[in-house]
Amino acid sequence: MFDDLLKAMGSVSAAGGSIYGYSEEYKKFLSSGYKCFKCNKTLLNRLGFINAKFYSKDGTEIALATVGFRRDVVLECPDCNHRWNMYGKSNPIRPNKLEVVSIIETHRSEEILGIDQRIIDNSKSTSKTTRKFTVSKEWSKSYSIQYENTQVNGTELNLGVKLPEIEIANIKLTSQETLKSQYSISEGKKETYTEEVQVEVSGYKKLKVFFTWKRIWQHGVIKFRHQDNTEFDVPFQVAVEVTFDQSQIDE
Ligand SMILES: [Zn+2]
Repeated sequence: MFDDLLKAMGSVSAAGGSIYGYSEEYKKFLSSGYKCFKCNKTLLNRLGFINAKFYSKDGTEIALATVGFRRDVVLECPDCNHRWNMYGKSNPIRPNKLEVVSIIETHRSEEILGIDQRIIDNSKSTSKTTRKFTVSKEWSKSYSIQYENTQVNGTELNLGVKLPEIEIANIKLTSQETLKSQYSISEGKKETYTEEVQVEVSGYKKLKVFFTWKRIWQHGVIKFRHQDNTEFDVPFQVAVEVTFDQSQIDE
């Protein structure tokens, strides 16, 4: 393990930075004598190894032995948790590790989408008749995430105040991706719900049949765990299906 790091360190000093495409932050770190530029602590242990944590850009901690062989390395100061890229010029896209612990479904609710009606006229006939027809409704699997109602240990969290901009962006992106994959949602895709309906009408009757369309929303929370072990719940709702209630009156 240390041998591999020595190799990594060796390439650091040999290359001098530029040809390897080191980031400005990493060059600054090297030229300052391995000082974290946020808390100014020297990140070198007694044996001369870089004393930092290493992550890939998606926030996963990576083994020291692999650091020398990859280019998506992010360093973290073990003291102040400041992070910076080893290569490239931009800062890490996901500075902190955020994981989705679970998706908890709570209740369901209904939203009325509209009422369709059909008239079945059997008033000129003496006998009972059965009419068949198809009803259909176009809808889309939409979702909404209530970031403003995010709870930390049962207390409401003001995302804007408690967390830096980049963290909020990370939470929003992760929430959206999580819901889209869990509920197979593809943006802008229309679904069509179709059902065959059969209505019986007696002789000398004229019926008015109503179809009350409803969209069913599944409510729940996405449970996140932050790298500092804080857990928080982000509430969401997803439109999972469409259905209807059928009723009728005599005309
Ligand atoms: Zn630091």
